[in-house]
Amino acid sequence: GQRRIPFNEPDSLTKVYAVASGKGGVGKSSVTVNLACALAAQGLRVGIVDADVYGFSVPALMGITQKPTQVDDMILPPVAYGVKVISIGMFVSGNKPVAWRGPMLHRALEQFLTDVYFGDLDALFLDLPPGTGDIAISVAQLLPKAEILVVTTPQAAAADVAERAGAIATQTGQTIAGVIENMSYLEMPDGGRMELFGSGGGAVLTERLSSTVGAEVPLLGQIPLDIQLREGGDTGVPIVLGRPEAAGAAALAGIAGQL
Ligand code: ADP
Repeated sequence: GQRRIPFNEPDSLTKVYAVASGKGGVGKSSVTVNLACALAAQGLRVGIVDADVYGFSVPALMGITQKPTQVDDMILPPVAYGVKVISIGMFVSGNKPVAWRGPMLHRALEQFLTDVYFGDLDALFLDLPPGTGDIAISVAQLLPKAEILVVTTPQAAAADVAERAGAIATQTGQTIAGVIENMSYLEMPDGGRMELFGSGGGAVLTERLSSTVGAEVPLLGQIPLDIQLREGGDTGVPIVLGRPEAAGAAALAGIAGQL
């Protein structure tokens, strides 16, 4: 019979955030992982579904090498830094690329949401693949109450693509929780800011999305380029936990505080 998705029950108190971007490499997964860890560090019960099937990177970003375990018909997700994590990457062997079509992706996501035992969560993050693909539509169908967080760089072209990703929300009636601008600037030793990728992408995107959805879409924060953010990803210790004093961590913590 039809399986129930606990996060969709009318009495579910779980806030579900779908983290989207127009294109890859803008820091969507890094942002997802750090926001989740920041909330878990505050004592909230947090889970992540890594739905970025083609570019799954959440396990590595959190230093997770364990596989999920199975008890009866339930899948128990590995836990890192207090966050329960499930990823397509845990079900493929080696580093093989995943070449699935829409219906398979839909079923995989549905199974993650029904068969994985997350228990009661305060917040569930979905790391979506970049773009406006099948998964975004599946999320809208499976989790209509999910709120979208759109990650972009300050570049005008990046904001254009991100707008298309965010605009899906209007078609599906989902809420856009806000825009996060990443790689906004590089802080120079003299205190100046170098805007490597230009500026204004986040602000432009929030304006456009606000007028598309007819409601205020906030710019939740601007995250600087930060070597320690990248290093934290490479070592599997998210910057908000490993280097909370770093500029990138402060920006991420500020965003987590608004969720
Ligand atoms: P996406 O999920 O959008 O593909 P990732 O989170 O995987 O992007 O980030 C892409 C690369 O950029 C990673 O190596 C990550 O460590 C790095 N990165 C992301 N944001 C920043 C930042 N603010 N400063 C420095 N490096 C960053």
